[in-house]
Amino acid sequence: MKIGIVGLPNVGKSTLFNALTEAGADAENYPFCTIDPNIGVVPVPDPRLDWLAEIYEPKKKTPTVIEFVDIAGLVEGASRGEGLGNKFLAHIREVDAIAQVVRCFDDKNISHVDGDISPDRDIDIINTELMMADLAAVEKRLEKTEKQAKSGDKIYLKEAETLKMLINTLEEGKNIRQLELDQTAKRLVKELQLLSAKPIIYLANVNEDEIDSPDNELVEAVKIHAAQDGAKVVEISAKIEADIAELDEDEKEMFLEELGVNESGLDRVIKAGYELLNLITFLTAGEQECRAWTVEKGSTAPEAAGKIHSDMEKGFIRAEVVSFEDLKRVGSMAAAREEGLLRLEGKDYIVQDGDVCHFRFNV
Ligand code: GDP
Repeated sequence: MKIGIVGLPNVGKSTLFNALTEAGADAENYPFCTIDPNIGVVPVPDPRLDWLAEIYEPKKKTPTVIEFVDIAGLVEGASRGEGLGNKFLAHIREVDAIAQVVRCFDDKNISHVDGDISPDRDIDIINTELMMADLAAVEKRLEKTEKQAKSGDKIYLKEAETLKMLINTLEEGKNIRQLELDQTAKRLVKELQLLSAKPIIYLANVNEDEIDSPDNELVEAVKIHAAQDGAKVVEISAKIEADIAELDEDEKEMFLEELGVNESGLDRVIKAGYELLNLITFLTAGEQECRAWTVEKGSTAPEAAGKIHSDMEKGFIRAEVVSFEDLKRVGSMAAAREEGLLRLEGKDYIVQDGDVCHFRFNV
C-alpha cells in the first residue's frame, strides 16, 4: 500500500519524506528494503505491538509498514506535459492514496513558485492538474467506447453514459472522490486509475514555532478546502520532524515532552495515512515473533491468514482470536483462554482491528 506525497515545489515534500524514511531506517527487524530512493518503507507505530512484545519477549518484533513515495515535480501545466508533467502524473496513478503537502510556513529565504504563500491557490493548482489529467484519460476512453457502442451493446452504452457523467463532474471542477459511484463507474475509475478519485489527506506544513497555534489563518484555509473534499488535515512542521527523526528513542521522548505532545507529527501522518487506506491491523504473538499485519477492512479470517502465508489461506481450518483489549485486560493468553475470551472463528469471520490471531491450517 502506497501513499504518494505531492505538492508544489518548495513546500517541504522532500523534508517530510526524508524525515519519514529516516525515522523508519532504524526500525528493528526490517522486513523489507527498497532500492528506489523515492520510495520509503515506514513502520506504523502501534502500542499494542509494543505491549505484546513486553509480554512475550520475542526474538523479533515486526511492525506493519506502509510505503510513502516522494513525487516531486508536479507544477502548474503538468497535465499539458509541462516540466515532465506526464511522468509525474503517471507516478501518482500507481499510488493508493495521496498526501498533499501544503505550504503554510513563511520563510523569506525560501522562494515560493508563485511568489507568496497561499494555501488556497496552491491546493487549487495541484487539484486542477490532477483533474485535467483525469479529464484527458476519460475523454480518450470515451472515444474508444463510443466506437464500441455503435454495436448497440448495452454495456458500452452504459459505459459511455458513465464516462460523460465523469467528464461533466471534472469540468465543473469537482474531484471524482466526491461522487457516489455505481458498479460501472467504480470499474472505470479503477481501470483508468483516476487521480482525483484517490483518497487524500492534506498536510499543512507550518513554521516550527506555529505548530498547533489556534488561529493560524493559513491552516484554516487548508481546513476549509479539505472539508469540501471530505478530507482530513494533519498539521506538521516538516522541519521539526526532520530534526526529531535524527534523535534516538530516549532523546526523542524528551524532546516531545518539552514540546508538550505525546506523539510526533510523523506518527500522526503515518496513522492518518493508514486510516486513509481503509486498512486494519491484526496481530500475531509468540516467543519467536510478535508481529502486526495489515489487511483491508472487511477481510475474512482466511484472507488474513493468507497475508502470513498462502498455504495458511488454502489449508485454513479455523482461527483462535482474542481482541487486544480483552487480552490486555486479563494479562495473558492463558488467562484469556480460561475466561473464555479466546474465540474459535471459522472461514466467514471478518477480522477486526486489534484481533490477536492464531491460525490453524492443514499443510
Ligand atoms: P519540496 O520541493 O517540496 O520537496 O521542498 P523541500 O522539502 O526541498 O523544502 C524546501 C525548503 O523549505 C528547504 O530549504 C526546507 O528546509 C524548507 N522547509 C521545509 N519545511 C519547512 C518548515 O516547516 N519550516 C521552514 N522554515 N522551512 C521549511
